[in-house]
Amino acid sequence: MTDIKSLDHEQLKEWMVSLGEKPFRAGQLYEWMHVRLAESYGQMSNLPLPLRERLDREYPLLIASRVREQTSALDGTRKYLFALPDGNLVESVWMRYRHGNSVCISSQAGCRMGCAFCASALDGLTRNLLPSEMLEQVYAIQRDTGERVSNVVVMGTGEPLDNYDNLLTFLRMLTDEYGLRISQRSVTVSTCGLVPQIYALAKERLQITLALSLHAVTDEKRCQLMPVAKRYSIRELLDACRFYFRETGRRITFEYSLIGGVNDSDKDAALLAILAKNAGSHVNLIPVNPVKERQFARSGPGRIAAFKNKLEKSGINVTIRREMGRDIDGACGQLRHGHMESEQRGERGR
Ligand code: SAH
Repeated sequence: MTDIKSLDHEQLKEWMVSLGEKPFRAGQLYEWMHVRLAESYGQMSNLPLPLRERLDREYPLLIASRVREQTSALDGTRKYLFALPDGNLVESVWMRYRHGNSVCISSQAGCRMGCAFCASALDGLTRNLLPSEMLEQVYAIQRDTGERVSNVVVMGTGEPLDNYDNLLTFLRMLTDEYGLRISQRSVTVSTCGLVPQIYALAKERLQITLALSLHAVTDEKRCQLMPVAKRYSIRELLDACRFYFRETGRRITFEYSLIGGVNDSDKDAALLAILAKNAGSHVNLIPVNPVKERQFARSGPGRIAAFKNKLEKSGINVTIRREMGRDIDGACGQLRHGHMESEQRGERGR
C-alpha cells in the first residue's frame, strides 16, 4: 500500500494524477498533512467528500498514537512513547529552550549498533522507520503542545545513517518549502560513525549539523564501547569528517559521553583536544546516563569540570549537555525498553 505521507510534494502530485485526480488536489492534500497536520481526512474540508472517503478507505492516514507521555516537573521536558500502526513503539522528546522548542526523534524501532552504554541497543533492531513515521513524531508533538517546533535532532533510538534513504526523504520533507519549513541549520543528525554514509551525506550538501558520537580517542577503547569501531578506525572517520566539512562548509560536532574511569582521564582529554582541533570541531560532553542493565557510572562533577577545563585550555569549544527531564526515565531508549519489559511481565500502564 502506498504510504502517502512519505511522498514528497512532487511524488504526491504524480500519485494524485495516477488516481485520476487533478494535480492541484495534491497541493491541498499535502498542505493538510504536512502544514496543518490534520489528524483525519475528515478535517480536509476543501477536498471533495468522495475523494476523502476513498482516501480513508484505501490509504488510511498514518498517525502516531500516544501510548505514554511524561512531563518533567523540573524543566517541562516531555517524553513521548508513540505506537505505530503495526504496534511498534517509538520514543521522542520535546524540550523547551530559550531559542525555541526542540524535538528529539527516533530513526529506527530499536537499533543494531550495540553500543555498550546505550539502552536502545538492549532489544536489537526491529525495523527502519519510514519518512512518514519520523515526520509524524514531530507533527504529533506539535499538535499536542500547540507550539511550533523550531529544532529537530535525530538523536533518539536508532542509527539514522543505517536508515539512509528514509532519513534523506524525511530531512527534505521537513525542511523544504512545502512542509513545516524547518531550517536545515536547525536540524542535527547524530551518527555513531558509518563512514560510507558520511561520504554520501556530504555529497547531498545539506546545511544540517552532523554530530559524531566519538566517545573514545583510541581505536582500542572505542571498540570496547562501540562495535561499529571495529569496522571503521578513528582515522577513517576523521577523514570522512574532513570531507563532509569540505563539501558542506559545516563543521562536525563531536559527542563524547563521559564514563567514570573509562574515558574521562586527563590523557583522554588531551587526545580529544588534538582530534577536535584538527577537525575544527566543537565538543559536546554528555555525562553518561546510567542504564540499569549496564554497569557504567557517570564521572563525578569534579572530573567533568576538569575534563572540560583541559579541552578549553587547548582552545576547544566545549559544552556540557544540559540534562533535561532528569526525573523522567533519562537515557535514550529507556522509556521504550522499560515499557516493552513491563508488557512482557504483563503489567500495563506503569
Ligand atoms: N545512533 C546515533 C544516535 C542515537 S544516540 C548515534 O550513535 O549518535 C544519541 C547520543 O546519545 C549518542 O551520542 C549516543 O552515543 C548517546 N548515548 C546513548 N546512550 C547514552 C547514555 N546512556 N548516556 C549518555 N549518552 C548516551
